[in-house]
Amino acid sequence: MTNALERIRAAKRELGQDVVVLAHHYQRKEVVEQGDFVGDSYQLSSYAAASDAQKIVFCGVHFMAEAARILARPNQKVYMPDPRAGCPMADMADARDTVTALSQLRQMAGKGRKIIPVTYVNSNADVKAIVGHAGGLVCTSANAGKALEWAATKGDLLFFLPDEFLGTNTANDLGYQPVARWNPHEANGGLTLKEVETAKVIVWQGYCHVHTYFTPAMVEAARAKYPDCKVVVHPECKPDVVEVADGCGSTSYLVREVEEAGSGQTVVVGTEVNLVLRLASEFPDRKIVPLDYSLCPNMYRTTPDKLADLLERFDPAREITVPEDVVAGARLALQRMLDL
Ligand code: SF4
Repeated sequence: MTNALERIRAAKRELGQDVVVLAHHYQRKEVVEQGDFVGDSYQLSSYAAASDAQKIVFCGVHFMAEAARILARPNQKVYMPDPRAGCPMADMADARDTVTALSQLRQMAGKGRKIIPVTYVNSNADVKAIVGHAGGLVCTSANAGKALEWAATKGDLLFFLPDEFLGTNTANDLGYQPVARWNPHEANGGLTLKEVETAKVIVWQGYCHVHTYFTPAMVEAARAKYPDCKVVVHPECKPDVVEVADGCGSTSYLVREVEEAGSGQTVVVGTEVNLVLRLASEFPDRKIVPLDYSLCPNMYRTTPDKLADLLERFDPAREITVPEDVVAGARLALQRMLDL
C-alpha cells in the first residue's frame, strides 16, 4: 500500500497540471486521500466540465466517467483506474427498453399530455441521450427536486428513471401525486390505461442495493442504542426508511449534517459505509455511525494500486469513450441540469 501511495505521489508530481484526479465520496479512504477534488456526482461533473487538465482520472463508477467524458473538451481524455467498475442500478435501464417505454407511454397517456423524462445521473450515456432528445434532463440526488419542478413546467407527465426510490421520495416531497411504477419487464410497464392517464409521475422500477438494504427496524435499533442521535439517510433509500429518519438528502447533504453536528453529538448515517467511516475518522469529536454496514462493491474496485498503474502508464484500455452519436443528446440532458 505504502508503495502504491508513493507511486501515485511521484506520478502526480511528474504530471503536474496535466492530470486531475477526481474521487467520489464512496471511494475507499486511501483513494479519496489521493483525489485533487472529492465530491458527489454533481460536484464531480461540474468540476470535470470546468477542468483544464489534459487527463481526467475518475475514481468512481462508469456512468460518472462517461458524464465527465461528455462534458469534457475533445482534446481532454478521461480514464478510470478500473473501467469495470459499473453501477447495477444504471444497468437496470437500457436504451432499448427506455425507447419502448417512452413510445408506449406516449400512446397510453393520450393526446394533449406531454411526457418529460428525467434520468438520474446514475444511468448509462445512451439513456441520457434518449432523454436529452426527448426534451428531458439529467438530475443528481442533490437537485432531483429542482429537476422535477423544471420538468413540470415543460410537460404534464414526468417519467423518472432508473431509480424508483429517488423518484418516489422526490415526488412525495414536492406533493406530485399520484406516482405509478413502471415495470420494464411487463407489457405497458404493468400499468393500466387509467393509471397512466391519472399519474403525475411514473417511476422506473430500478434500485440501488446499497441503499434499499436499510430498513425502518435499523433506524429503530439505532435510536434504541443512541437515544439522542440524529438519523439521516440518502434518498435512494425506500420511502418507509425516509419517513422514520430525521433527515433525508444527497451525499453532500449527509456530509454537511456531519460537519455541522456539534461536538459530542451522534449522527447515524444511512448511506455507503466507506463515506460514513471516513467521516467518523475525520470528526473524532462526534460520534458518526453507519445505519448498518452497506458497501458498494463497484466503488470498492478502485484501489491505490490500480490508480498508481494508471497514472504511470495511461493504458488506452482504461480510457472512457462515448460514441459520437450518443454525445450530443447526452450533453443536452446534462447541460439542462447544469443550467438549473
Ligand atoms: S452505491 Fe448504488 S447507485 Fe451508487 S454506484 Fe453503487 S450500486 Fe450504483
